[in-house]
Amino acid sequence: MALIEAFKRLLGDTAVLTREEDLAAVTEDWRGRYRAPALCAVLPSNTEQVAAVVRLCAESGVPVLPQGGNTSLCGGATPSEQGEPPVIVLLTRMRRIRSLDPVNNTIVVDAGCVLATIQEAAAAAGRLYPVSLGAEGSCQIGGNIATNAGGTGVLRYGNTRDNVLGLEVVLPDGSIWDGLYALRKNNTGYDLKHLFIGSEGTLGIVTGAVLKLHPLPTAEAVAWLAVDNPQKALDVLGLFQASCNSRLSAFELMNAKQIALVLEQVPGRRCPVARIDTWHVLVELSDTGDAEALAATMQAVLEQALEAGMISDGVVAASEAQRKAMWLVRHSVSEANKKAGVGLTSDTAVPVSTVPAFIDQAMAGVRAIVPDLPFIIVGHMGDGNIHLIPFFTFAEWDALTDRDALAQRIRRAMNDVASALRGTFSAEHGVGRTLTSEMVRYKPYAELALMRAVKQAFDPKGLFNPGRVLPPPSPSALPSIVTSQTGD
Ligand code: FAD
Repeated sequence: MALIEAFKRLLGDTAVLTREEDLAAVTEDWRGRYRAPALCAVLPSNTEQVAAVVRLCAESGVPVLPQGGNTSLCGGATPSEQGEPPVIVLLTRMRRIRSLDPVNNTIVVDAGCVLATIQEAAAAAGRLYPVSLGAEGSCQIGGNIATNAGGTGVLRYGNTRDNVLGLEVVLPDGSIWDGLYALRKNNTGYDLKHLFIGSEGTLGIVTGAVLKLHPLPTAEAVAWLAVDNPQKALDVLGLFQASCNSRLSAFELMNAKQIALVLEQVPGRRCPVARIDTWHVLVELSDTGDAEALAATMQAVLEQALEAGMISDGVVAASEAQRKAMWLVRHSVSEANKKAGVGLTSDTAVPVSTVPAFIDQAMAGVRAIVPDLPFIIVGHMGDGNIHLIPFFTFAEWDALTDRDALAQRIRRAMNDVASALRGTFSAEHGVGRTLTSEMVRYKPYAELALMRAVKQAFDPKGLFNPGRVLPPPSPSALPSIVTSQTGD
């Protein structure tokens, strides 16, 4: 085909993948739930090559799908079954740390840099890039930016949006926007970078970024706590916030089922407290000051929590190895859940104060559909971000008829509760393909209309990651959009 030949002339034969076996890994999502063909995948080495690829696609009217580490949990990075197979643009060869300025506290990177590589480069310069998540060994910064990734450091440092100062983007017409500003102040009209952050590959391809760096903590104190229920976890969170303020850097909640699955599915993991059959909290304090002082603060808060009956047990990591082991348990949840069965994960955020109510009401809503269904519960509780996961074993799931409709009803039950609490159905993973129908149900009409206008302005031919984020407008969808104006 002429387009593929043009790519080969532009990039070289080895940078154009067309064989099924080469495309297998990039046409199936991380969970193995979605699979659809691509025309080919291309591996540009620099921004100019990305721009040339996009121009060729624009001339031929072929869809473009940017892909980073393909760790999306909402089917955002793989082709659609509907429509023309896209050209997948892989940023893998664009992994240069372009520069690091320790005085300005910024790092400039290619979009294909793996998140962990950026964290390491920052640490080597005595700085911290604070976005951290379970997929950090394989997800790319371009994917983090495109999904506005959250993770475990949001409580103190914010999500990806809060840590991006500038972007370089290839636009759908193949032109390059150089917005690589390393500025903390820049009030020169609309701040366009924010449109690309969280746009999930629908407005352009991020090729480079300027990221904020922070001082590297010199002290960390990590504890694993057993609590009786989410309300008690909330009380403990309040205590830490009152006593530690910004030194509180993570506050993660997991239920007993989640811990049991990690121990069962991922070799080498150990529950830090004696009882598994309880709720678990992983809490981290970090500071640039004295390690002993921070450890003493952790101890004092835990004693207070124990006395007040907020926690029933607690273990403070006594060494770097123990600290890492605790975090490994937390970071193993997605792997464990994927191996164990089928989880219909919610990606809910609600006001932090309403997390216990969300958990109770959403579980009741789902159990009205499937009584006695077990739940995995894990989340970044400090941000009000809870993944409530109605869980089926593979055998149970396979035995069901009309699985898609059931999954939709179950998701709805959870998302309706989140919406009633003024929360969101997509806190950190993005909308992808899994949640496009929820956009119509929960987003106010005016918001959707503005988003469609933005999409039209950037990508008038509708070639960039079609079918993701924004559902196609349909007359039958309109009443639902209108009635969702109150957020119900
Ligand atoms: P991909 O999956 O490749 O792509 C995601 C989306 O971004 C797609 O729409 C794609 O088209 C678009 N995209 C990718 N690169 C670009 C680019 N350069 N320009 C424009 N668009 C682009 N997420 C969290 O927020 N918090 C977590 O705690 C978390 N934990 C996870 C744990 C595990 C084990 C796994 C597997 C995933 C987890 N995720 C989490 C989800 C996922 O890792 C993030 O969404 C991540 O940001 C995706 O990065 P990626 O490079 O893999 O992007």
